[in-house]
Amino acid sequence: MVKYSNSKDWFEIIKHKDYLYVIRERLDEIDPRFYTTYTNLYLVVGSHSALLIDTGSGLFPLKPVVNDLILDKTLIVINTHCHFDHVGGNHEFDKILIHKKEKDQILKPHDISFLQDSSKEITKLYRNKKHTLPPAKGIQIVKDEEIIDLGEISIKIIHTPGHSPGSISLLTSKNELFTGDTAHYGTMYLTKKDFPIILSSISKLLELFQKSITIEIYPSHEEYAVSKKLLVDLSKGIKNIDNIWDTRKRDDFLESWIIDDEIFKYVIF
Ligand SMILES: [Zn+2]
Repeated sequence: MVKYSNSKDWFEIIKHKDYLYVIRERLDEIDPRFYTTYTNLYLVVGSHSALLIDTGSGLFPLKPVVNDLILDKTLIVINTHCHFDHVGGNHEFDKILIHKKEKDQILKPHDISFLQDSSKEITKLYRNKKHTLPPAKGIQIVKDEEIIDLGEISIKIIHTPGHSPGSISLLTSKNELFTGDTAHYGTMYLTKKDFPIILSSISKLLELFQKSITIEIYPSHEEYAVSKKLLVDLSKGIKNIDNIWDTRKRDDFLESWIIDDEIFKYVIF
């Protein structure tokens, strides 16, 4: 039985602050084999423009949902990185901002045939699209330290490679830090050879707390409005993976190793 039939049932919209909406999707309702419950999209609304951070799975139209929230403000759309759960709705928008190292993947149709044998009925909606996500139009490259002005709120891009080469985090002038998939609770996807890169990106994010202790972290999966402790826990956790490497299990769907510690699950390629 398909439980969800339109954008209204599918997206959970939370007005977290006057200027900050969380738009949530259930990734486990798309495919539980990713060991992830929620994907979080964020909408930051300034006085003249609004920034949508990621476009989700593309299962249901997102643009009408966002337009209802921002009314006549100018919408800017950015991707934290190019993975399917973050870019699925890109084709609905005229312009997408992304780091140059992620650009090639959203320029062309994105193969999601790995969802064909999901246990969840809802992925049948992808059949009409032949299990590909349409490419983005109007791609615009963003650079490390670039500032996006929304009117009364500005947002700085921080290049945080590791989860993927062009992964970005974003820091608002009101101290919300959006970390994408660079840091979140739940199941972290990592490549073993890139551990040093991800650790240095986590250090880069931790340094931001030296300038301001009031930063709150808004990751792209699972819990949001979490503290600096996430970054401290994750850094310790990744450094400890070698010590618990013997406990790894093979995952044939993800073609990776799975390791759990007390806080995170790691999917390691
Ligand atoms: Zn993700």
